[in-house]
Amino acid sequence: VVYLDYNATAPMRPEAVATVIDVMRSVGNASSPHAPGRDAARRVDVARRQLAELLNCSPGEIIFTAGATEANNLALRAAHTIGHRLVTSRVEHPAVLETARDLTKDLPASLVLLAVDRDGLVDPAELEHVLGDGSVGLVSLMAANNETGVLTDLDPVVKAAHAAGALVHTDATQMIGRLPLDLAEVDVDLLSLSAHKFGGPQGVGALFVRRGAMLPFRPLLTGGGQERGWRAGTLNVAGIAGAGAAAAAAHRSFAEEARRIGRLRDLLEESLTAQVSACWINGGRSPRLPGVSSVTFDGTPADAVIAAMPGVAVSDGSACASGAPTPSHVLLAMGLTREQADSTVRFSLGYATTEAEVIDAADAVARAVRHVRTTMTSAHV
Ligand code: PMP
Repeated sequence: VVYLDYNATAPMRPEAVATVIDVMRSVGNASSPHAPGRDAARRVDVARRQLAELLNCSPGEIIFTAGATEANNLALRAAHTIGHRLVTSRVEHPAVLETARDLTKDLPASLVLLAVDRDGLVDPAELEHVLGDGSVGLVSLMAANNETGVLTDLDPVVKAAHAAGALVHTDATQMIGRLPLDLAEVDVDLLSLSAHKFGGPQGVGALFVRRGAMLPFRPLLTGGGQERGWRAGTLNVAGIAGAGAAAAAAHRSFAEEARRIGRLRDLLEESLTAQVSACWINGGRSPRLPGVSSVTFDGTPADAVIAAMPGVAVSDGSACASGAPTPSHVLLAMGLTREQADSTVRFSLGYATTEAEVIDAADAVARAVRHVRTTMTSAHV
């Protein structure tokens, strides 16, 4: 199978697999004072440093969680205060959108969902306008969209929000480990990430909380006081160590990887648009992640296309909402019709994708689209 679904999950990097196995062969609770416990705590310290190096922040600003869903919940539930408005966008991941809805369910007017244009971009003027009256407590905008790869220019968001006295959170799950994000330059207060998107294990993530951020102390999980009280529970030492190893590997290679993956993505898009009529790239004119391509094959249901090419693993819309038969809220927000959204395939490439795989996949997709279109035409006759 040609695996082009890195935004759903990336294959684990060999360094991460080796580290997880190594830790699993040992014993030790990172909170225990004896030697095995101290060894486990050291493993966690190393991982915290590796992640901090990738983000250019201080290790003490990282809270390990069980993934980005938890990190997003922790960020929003800690930073939102009743009486203040919460601003996010229509194209966020459900882990942000549903959390924001839940937090404002008693006061729906305090939730502001910013629109995006055809290119998937928020209008900075609309954000400025919303921030205008000083009633916004938190702005949460994703660094990179999981369906289209479209990037948010975070700098102006942070400047405008801070000038209005609001905190800024970014869900950077799809960005971290794929493109550089330097927390010494990008002054967000909170940032979520997930290890399995950059070659670490599933079920491990982190929330960055900037030192000095005016954040009420509201943990989701209370108990033994781990992670400075922010996240109680015995640490997942093997998973955390694997996340650290993946972060270090990504940090070593991602500048070069990003260029190579960007070229492969361009090759995929050129091959598809040359072979298939009536298709387009969603967000194709915007700054995007190098490895993501959201392609609408007009009038051609994505589930049929995917069923016609079992050798290529891709996603229709968002695998994160798998099983849900609703059309992609991201594509609808960008102005696609329901039918167009349902005719969209997401390709996401990553560090292990090869040129040969991309060429094979593009040919298989083109054949599948032509096959589905022919079948549909004959079915109508
Ligand atoms: N945010 C974004 C943008 C994502 O793409 C995902 C994963 N699909 C998540 C959050 C949730 O991450 P996790 O599965 O690690 O909880």
